[in-house]
Amino acid sequence: MDFYRILEKVVSGKFADTGEIATLLAPPDETAEKALFDAAYQLKCEICGRMVNLRGLIEFSNICTRDCFYCGIRKSNGKVTRYRMSENEIVSAAEKALEFGYGSVVLQSGERSDEEFAGFVERVVGKISALAPGFGITLSCGEESLDTYRRWREAGATRYLLRIESSSEKIFNAIHPAEALFSERKAALKRLQQAGFQTGSGVMIGLPGQTLKDLAADIAFFRDMDLDMIGMGPYLPQTDTPLGQQYPDSGNMAEQRLQLSLRMIAVTRLVLRDVNIAATTALQTIDPAQGRERGILAGANVIMPNVGDVAFRRDYQLYNGKPSLDENSLSIRENLIRSLAAIGEAPRFNSAGDPLHFFRRTGSGK
Ligand code: SF4
Repeated sequence: MDFYRILEKVVSGKFADTGEIATLLAPPDETAEKALFDAAYQLKCEICGRMVNLRGLIEFSNICTRDCFYCGIRKSNGKVTRYRMSENEIVSAAEKALEFGYGSVVLQSGERSDEEFAGFVERVVGKISALAPGFGITLSCGEESLDTYRRWREAGATRYLLRIESSSEKIFNAIHPAEALFSERKAALKRLQQAGFQTGSGVMIGLPGQTLKDLAADIAFFRDMDLDMIGMGPYLPQTDTPLGQQYPDSGNMAEQRLQLSLRMIAVTRLVLRDVNIAATTALQTIDPAQGRERGILAGANVIMPNVGDVAFRRDYQLYNGKPSLDENSLSIRENLIRSLAAIGEAPRFNSAGDPLHFFRRTGSGK
């Protein structure tokens, strides 16, 4: 009975502690799990209707100076052909997103903390923000100094995604080399808020050694950090990485992780309420036909269809089995509209789709 009592409590907006959040992550049966998903979906609909915010994803560079143990584009992976799109190529992809009515783009890359890179991103953001007033620009380029974050914010980017990957320092240290500091990742999230960004983070779900208590603590971390956007998904092993080689998948582990990820989305929606939550590509990797749609029905409200050139996609595989590697962006758009219609949802075209939480956090109103 504990499960339903706690569910009722979070649905009514009351505070839940980490133990209660962990209980919600483990519904006792299918009926309870459905009650969880239904409650989260209903709240999602109250906040943003039966509509999904779209961000055109541009993976503009796979050059990275870091060596995260789980990531396919880590610097030590010699099998990857490195690339960086030119300024014109990135701006053209953003124009395509605008033309498609996506209302916003995400510029994602490996991490580099040097002046050449900072200036490059600053110029590209400036050019994209001049394309149309109100066109949203999200960056996901890793840990940077406050000065660099401020430059990128002033150039016109409004949102930033920096995943913590796990709020457990022990797990964080197990999946990153010694030079990656948990405290520094947290501090970078604070710097992003200081620079005025709508700030997002997220975790991998189903990491080796991770418990339900760890995942519940992740949700409490999102709340404590007052984040505006959450992007999380199942951990997917990449065979050319140390973690992927040490812990290969077997049996139905991937499907179990997908189900757990859907529960994480639902509980995060209920606990954090007015944040934006992405139905990530990792969900689609495990269930190509319905993964992202299942994410929406569990309470997510954002999808990031790829608008980058097909030619670059093969070299931006953070994990194995990435979907739509050869599908052009127009066909991705058409399929997305169709699959959303099948669950009674529609894309919210020509809207930046800002997270309401940001305006509440900053008191800037909207
Ligand atoms: S997760 Fe990010 S920072 Fe780490 S290796 Fe991959 S691209 Fe680089």
